[in-house]
Amino acid sequence: MTDFSAKKHFPYFSDNAKQVYLDSAATTQRLGAVIEVTRQAMAENNATVHRAAYKKASEATVAYENVRQNVASWINARQDEIVFTSGATESLNMIAAGIHAPMLNGTKILVCASEHHANLLPWQALASRLDLSIEVLPLEQDGVFSEATWERWSTLVTQDVCLIACAHVSNVLGNIYPVKALCQLAEQNQALTIIDGTQALAHLSVDVADIGCDFYVFSGHKMYGPTGTGVLFGRYSCLTGLLPSKLGGEMVSAVSYERFTTQNPPLKFEAGTPNVSGVIALGEALYFLREHMTQIVQHERTLCKLLMSRLKTIKHLRVLGNPLQQHGHSTNGNPQDTIGIVSFVLEQQDNHSIVQQLWQEGIALRYGHHCAMPLLQTLSVGACIRVSIGAYTDEQDILRFVETLQRILRQSEGDLASIENDSSYS
Ligand code: PMP
Repeated sequence: MTDFSAKKHFPYFSDNAKQVYLDSAATTQRLGAVIEVTRQAMAENNATVHRAAYKKASEATVAYENVRQNVASWINARQDEIVFTSGATESLNMIAAGIHAPMLNGTKILVCASEHHANLLPWQALASRLDLSIEVLPLEQDGVFSEATWERWSTLVTQDVCLIACAHVSNVLGNIYPVKALCQLAEQNQALTIIDGTQALAHLSVDVADIGCDFYVFSGHKMYGPTGTGVLFGRYSCLTGLLPSKLGGEMVSAVSYERFTTQNPPLKFEAGTPNVSGVIALGEALYFLREHMTQIVQHERTLCKLLMSRLKTIKHLRVLGNPLQQHGHSTNGNPQDTIGIVSFVLEQQDNHSIVQQLWQEGIALRYGHHCAMPLLQTLSVGACIRVSIGAYTDEQDILRFVETLQRILRQSEGDLASIENDSSYS
């Protein structure tokens, strides 16, 4: 199987040794190094950045700007193309709020059918502000992405499209979308591309120059870093055109009572005192990913295959999307077939009650619409059960989850049979 073992790096699992944590797509556990650096940044090294020359302040500035450099090199961008935000939601809202008519060539926005609300609502707001229409890049039955889907998408990217918003990886379906090919089509039609990489960064290598997108966003807490941290990558020429939606200190080079001149990107978009300790701690998460990414990819792939093979044996279990098929694009051009998100519905069962029983047995996973209500409506399921894997997940976690699920289902079948038997006596 796989001998990669990351649990030791995460203090959460010493305190919750009996829990099976399968909710990494909602938030990942924090690395011990992230927790320790946060403590140090708050306790011993507390200072804000860019403003003062005393020792602690200049050290904080160096540490903060080093993380910017590390993020840039990790995703193959320039340092001045990396804006720190509070998370993917803020990044996407800043892009949508900062776009103005001259940046757009066309009147139609395309959004993928499985988008998280964070990569949908801001485009609805932009559409209503600039009088644009929204069209959906559809999926097949059960949320599957196939060659046929790609054919349909290709015909939808036309001259009247001004912007395409698509996740690199769906937080519900686990689908890895061919974002490089999509960005090539967009470029031919002069459309802006916004790729939501929130579910990608912790599971595959990302190269924004290779993908060729205009914007790429993600959140620190989904990659073993702290909450309240995020990244907005923007191609430099796009960042110079984008208007800053947050105004205040730090982001200006000159101010009079009547007007102001902004700094150049990225500081133009970082108004106010930033989350200094959060950003410095995010740097620790990057070190971990850098060191272990090759093993993480292999490890999560092995676990996802094991999970899928076990789920297949369960009657009436319908997997949504294609969490194990190869259409995606990652790792500097190498196709990657999974990132370890598997959602399903149990037909003819009370899914909610099953999930509650799993929770009682110490299995932490998610049941609901996963902030993708339009997708679940399209799939005609109100809610689904989502299992999501992280670097610390191990074979035991997968086996215990599947065995517990099987036991609960057997129990519920037994209960049903005894009710039927009882009623046959009456
Ligand atoms: N996009 C995707 C694909 C997500 O999974 C999430 C979080 N579930 C978000 C955006 C929003 O991230 P955050 O809440 O960290 O801003």
